[in-house]
Amino acid sequence: MASFEWHLPCYEMSVIGASGGGSVTSTAKDVCPYCSVADCYADCDGSAGDIDGLESEQQMIDREHYNCAIGGIEALILTMACAGIEIDTPAMIEAIETAVERAANNA
Ligand SMILES: [Zn+2]
Repeated sequence: MASFEWHLPCYEMSVIGASGGGSVTSTAKDVCPYCSVADCYADCDGSAGDIDGLESEQQMIDREHYNCAIGGIEALILTMACAGIEIDTPAMIEAIETAVERAANNA
């Protein structure tokens, strides 16, 4: 895999590739209301006990489904970058924003 580093103007998205792997970070995923970690699902003490009633079990399930959809979108973006596609064109940015909004509406 070629080495690359993209920083997109949506969701503070960074797409980084190097030999042996790549990664995507962004603010698109919804975070745990207790610890602010996106992939916390009743993992932290606050979330596990829902101490302050910030997130019901159903809300947590909905957040997990939404984040799973975002993970799929991010994986596609990384795969496209690995294939040498320019992912910071206006059309790509618009497509990413629309995909994330659709995921939010379907969650
Ligand atoms: Zn948490």
